[in-house]
Amino acid sequence: MVFNLFKRSQPKETAATPAAPSELAQAQAVAAPGEPVEPDVPVLVRERGSEAGKNIAQSLERTRGGIFGAVRSMFQQRPELNEAFWDELEERLIQADLGAHTTADLVDELRSRHAKRRFDSADDAQMALRDSMIALLGNERPSLNLPEPMAVVLVIGVNGVGKTTSIAKLAHLLTGLGRKPLLVAGDTFRAAAIDQLKIWGERTRTPVVAQSPGSDPGAVVFDGLQAATSRGMDTVIIDTAGRLHTKTNLMEELRKVRRIIDRQVPGAPHETLLVLDAVTGQNGLMQAKTFAESVGVTGLILSKLDSSAKGGVVFSIAQELKLPIKFIGTGEQLQDFAPFDPQAFSGALFK
Ligand code: GDP
Repeated sequence: MVFNLFKRSQPKETAATPAAPSELAQAQAVAAPGEPVEPDVPVLVRERGSEAGKNIAQSLERTRGGIFGAVRSMFQQRPELNEAFWDELEERLIQADLGAHTTADLVDELRSRHAKRRFDSADDAQMALRDSMIALLGNERPSLNLPEPMAVVLVIGVNGVGKTTSIAKLAHLLTGLGRKPLLVAGDTFRAAAIDQLKIWGERTRTPVVAQSPGSDPGAVVFDGLQAATSRGMDTVIIDTAGRLHTKTNLMEELRKVRRIIDRQVPGAPHETLLVLDAVTGQNGLMQAKTFAESVGVTGLILSKLDSSAKGGVVFSIAQELKLPIKFIGTGEQLQDFAPFDPQAFSGALFK
């Protein structure tokens, strides 16, 4: 079952109520013919009084200032579109973490368009850049493959990127949509990771299956999947190690965990989500490539977008990894998490 993470926006008066299980059905509702079509909004990201998470525009303040502050001022101050201008634009886009490839493609396109048919003004050139960047992200909005009766989501990424926090946020979001998640503390190498997951489990009222530090991750996963079945849970979210204290290769360990999952729930994991820290930018991209090649990733969670002035990495992810960004993390609270909406993202960035 493909789980749609977007729904039509609600009228103001109902927008203040917490998400109820029935919202799952609403989330998948399609406008009847003739019915006015409201813009879709990510579920649970609506205003909810004091519970409201940061909105996307707030979360992108640093990036907007970072990338577009610098780029905008170039277009304003240096209206002559000569070679020096394109070179400097390239430099600034690289600083904003768009990456060498993506930057070169974008600037080359502008250069050749200008050579063929001059832009009337620097403003026009800026609009052309904006349109090409928006086109990179496309229109497709993410969904999750969460089949009934049991969906398994494996969450991977190096330590410190925000894996545990993202798992808690995801569990919170799915609970709001009527799913019954169970968390598995598969990072048995760090005692702190196990404790942290248990704390988040209490906060989100989500059961957690854990064993003592140092135990075999495969055994915890096995237990977790059995416990989920016997307790009637429908979504198992598995935390994994981001670094090993043993000599075992991390990727090998993750592949082993995948095999154990598949043996118990054939075809699972249904989603393998890689958490990337937006602050680490291009380094994160290298990590993502390694994980994607070795473990098979179905989508990304881009965390800490609020702390980053380098949200430009989103564009190089879109172009270079060809992996969907499924969620963005925009703060340390449970509500600071949203399905990634490329159009809303571009809109907020270029506002
Ligand atoms: P893990 O080692 O990958 O499991 O990382 P944690 O989930 O423990 O997170 C590491 C740190 O990043 C913690 O201090 C979190 O509060 C913080 N963090 C996680 N996600 C976000 C986010 O989206 N925004 C901000 N600002 N901080 C975050």
